[in-house]
Amino acid sequence: MNQHVNLVLTGRWLVSMDGNEPLEEEGISVAVAGDRIAEIGLNLACKYPQAELLTCPQGLIMPGLINSHSHAAMSCFRGLADDLPLMDWLTQHIFPREAQLTKEIVYQSTLLSLCEMIKSGTTCCNDMYLFTQEVARAATDAGMRAWIGEGFFDFPSPCYGELENGFAYVEELFKAYKANDLITITVTPHSVYTCSPPLLQRAAALAEEKQALLHIHLAETMSEVSGCMEQYGCSPVQHLEQLGLLNERVVIAHGVQISEEEIALLAKRKVKVAHCPESNMKLASGMAPVQAMFNQGLTVGIGTDGSASNNDVDMFSEMSTAAKLQKVRDLDPTALKADAVLQAATMGGAALLRADAEIGSIKAGKKADLIMLNMNQPHLTPCYQPISHLVYAAKGSDVVHSVINGQVVMRDRQLTTLDELTIIEEMRKIGEIVLRMH
Ligand SMILES: [Zn+2]
Repeated sequence: MNQHVNLVLTGRWLVSMDGNEPLEEEGISVAVAGDRIAEIGLNLACKYPQAELLTCPQGLIMPGLINSHSHAAMSCFRGLADDLPLMDWLTQHIFPREAQLTKEIVYQSTLLSLCEMIKSGTTCCNDMYLFTQEVARAATDAGMRAWIGEGFFDFPSPCYGELENGFAYVEELFKAYKANDLITITVTPHSVYTCSPPLLQRAAALAEEKQALLHIHLAETMSEVSGCMEQYGCSPVQHLEQLGLLNERVVIAHGVQISEEEIALLAKRKVKVAHCPESNMKLASGMAPVQAMFNQGLTVGIGTDGSASNNDVDMFSEMSTAAKLQKVRDLDPTALKADAVLQAATMGGAALLRADAEIGSIKAGKKADLIMLNMNQPHLTPCYQPISHLVYAAKGSDVVHSVINGQVVMRDRQLTTLDELTIIEEMRKIGEIVLRMH
């Protein structure tokens, strides 16, 4: 393996998330060979002098963060309609504008979010949206690792029109990204309130056939639960159970309005949960019982949701919010401790994607998805417990270097795969188009 090492990261702290305690030692290094982590040790730049070096004297090396639920292209709606209930926000502001989206808007808006994700330490996202061929193209351009799904609804989509075409569109995606290193295709019926039981079952059959993840919004708000009770006589979780949809490949986004019994059922069916606290707070959806989910052994990841309901995709602030919100919910300062939150944002997200053998921690042989933070800053000094700082004090802007699949995507805060200023300029023009939509 030695002769293939082509990249070395060297700092002062290592938070590997592989079950070992954080390490503090000057010169702590991670060596990368191609797309994989080759070795962890001290001063590896001396051992591999030919390798490219990413360094920071007070640097903290950790696995890249995994955003378990995103709609990257919704950056074009950021700040357009705030302070509204979910259903009004969706039906009066988002859905009518989404109906007028184009390939180009989705591509550019996704690129913008990918800039933001890389600049705040995210190396992988689980994205659900429209025009996902464009989302996949943007992720490929950025070098971002992404799970991507095209939204299914009972109503026509601006991307594929009638539903029948949607299934053909998704078949094409599966074909195009069959053996892709970075992109994995998922099946994404939007929710129980926008998808009829036959559509949900057809989506589930496709996910089964492809052995793909089924990613759906579920039990997000009280109005979703009461609507489901009215229409189907049961809660959203029970509805999916009755349709035979719950299994280990299902990822539910939110899971806010669920009972202890439903958590037990989700645990039994090995369903995974993407917890999106900032979106849940902003839309006043409620507080997901995350500590109870952990207690029952559920796999939980952390997600930002779209930046129209957050309003950013910074996973560091999402982790901080997740930890604090759970304490408020349970009136218990010991609920959802920092290490549990960091675990959810790394190995939890990886397990949610069924990719924990490949990503989510720093271990020789795993994919090289790594970030380094500069800890030489007032808000991170002194550093008694690195994990405490990562969850409660660090910000996305503290990330200085980022590596995805062995490729350096940010060096000294400069993106290497994307032209940030041009993307921002393009987004200004898109903002003018979105503003004129009605
Ligand atoms: Zn969402």
